Amino acid sequence: MSSPLPEYIDPLRLADARAVLQGQVAVSGMARLAPSLRSTQGVVDFDLAFSVDMEGIRCVHGSLSTQLDVICQRCMQPMELPLEAQVALGVVVSMQEAERLPSAYEPLVVGAEPVSLKEMIEDELLLVLPVAPIHPEQQCPAWRERILEEEQEEPAQEGKKNPFAVLAQLKKT
Ligand SMILES: [Zn+2]
Repeated sequence: MSSPLPEYIDPLRLADARAVLQGQVAVSGMARLAPSLRSTQGVVDFDLAFSVDMEGIRCVHGSLSTQLDVICQRCMQPMELPLEAQVALGVVVSMQEAERLPSAYEPLVVGAEPVSLKEMIEDELLLVLPVAPIHPEQQCPAWRERILEEEQEEPAQEGKKNPFAVLAQLKKT
């Protein structure tokens, strides 16, 4: 059994201790992510390893995985957006230190305030969240309709069937 997850973490101390944090956090309560979502249902799976690298930089490596409930920006219907993020954070105590980090790291600036594990995970999701999520083409009703319209506009189309009858049929399914 793993111990319960802390709400706040000290990344410097966790790095020195080579700690691993694994678990789930709820999407609900992620206030900066929420405006991009249809609902805040769901969880984020995370696996984060804190360590000190060869150059003595305290760092966090790992991955996040979730399914977000969003609106497809092409058909405006609900969709599940699978989202994965690879995490590579360099833990620093000042902006100057952040600027010296190797480019492989995103800075995680820690100060006197404790670091919220949930907010840290939310930050990483915001980095990979698409601006306008859309269904994969075959699954998007708006995309299928557009393809139908394009087919109807083809001048060499054979037959004189009413194209709207075809469309109506497809809409029923
Ligand atoms: Zn769609």
